Amino acid sequence: MKTGLEGKVVLVTGGASGIGRASCLAFVAEGAKVVVADIAKESGEETASMLRQTGGEAFFVQSDVSNASDVENLVRKTMEKYGRIDCAHNNAGIAGEMVRTGDYSEQAWDSIIKTNLKSVWLCMKFEIEQMLKQQSGVIVNTASTAGLRGSRFAAAYAASSHAVVGLTKSAALEYITQGIRINAVCPGIVDTPMIQRYIAGDTKREVQFKAASPIGRMATPAEIAQAVVWLCSDAASYITGHAMVVDGGRTAQ
Ligand code: NAD
Repeated sequence: MKTGLEGKVVLVTGGASGIGRASCLAFVAEGAKVVVADIAKESGEETASMLRQTGGEAFFVQSDVSNASDVENLVRKTMEKYGRIDCAHNNAGIAGEMVRTGDYSEQAWDSIIKTNLKSVWLCMKFEIEQMLKQQSGVIVNTASTAGLRGSRFAAAYAASSHAVVGLTKSAALEYITQGIRINAVCPGIVDTPMIQRYIAGDTKREVQFKAASPIGRMATPAEIAQAVVWLCSDAASYITGHAMVVDGGRTAQ
């Protein structure tokens, strides 16, 4: 399959770890130039250097994507370096506290909504501004299967994820006639540092995570990245406003 991504400029947030890092690697494998964005400096630089070591073109911009001036700066730096943004994978996020709905502190609630939802809107705001000038662009937002159904002890996370799906569909309708496609990817349980922090060496919990999906294992970050790359590719030219589930059959149950 020809993805048409060779030479394209791709911005990936949360690129220092997990799904974001896998996405950076997958885009570089298709010949794209990648701008790695993350709040974490050291591991973000590490991703960029991994990409360059594989022969790819990449640079890192430290950014807190829940902060408007950081996102504006990220897009400006991308424009200064490459002059365009063809694709964006808005992926940075946190799991946040695992408590019942009534037990969140206001601060914990705000932090999850700001990092997982406001950040996606902010990224889209500045990316779309540029894509409108180009009259082309593709955006993929990372949501979750928790954006499609309830999630016990993760109401704020699930609410932010449902909202990312709604944001994706609404924006997709607004910009499709201007050459911009916008989709979401909804991973199930993915074996990333986020999940490993939660497992924290507890084998019983790990077994539960694996058993939670009919496929009997967690996804690899690369399996999510492949879906993102495909959604950004020419092969998905008629797809917009879609929330693509990549979950080993979890939501089919
Ligand atoms: P991860 O913790 O491995 O990576 C997340 C990255 O986002 C980190 O590098 C972190 O530094 C960065 N980040 C966090 N807050 C940021 C901010 N304010 N500004 C910039 N960067 C920030 O997690 P992951 O599992 O790779 O998750 C990536 C995305 O996928 C998240 O949005 C997560 O909610 C979503 N997701 C993960 C899973 C899963 O099972 N791992 C499932 C569904 C959805």
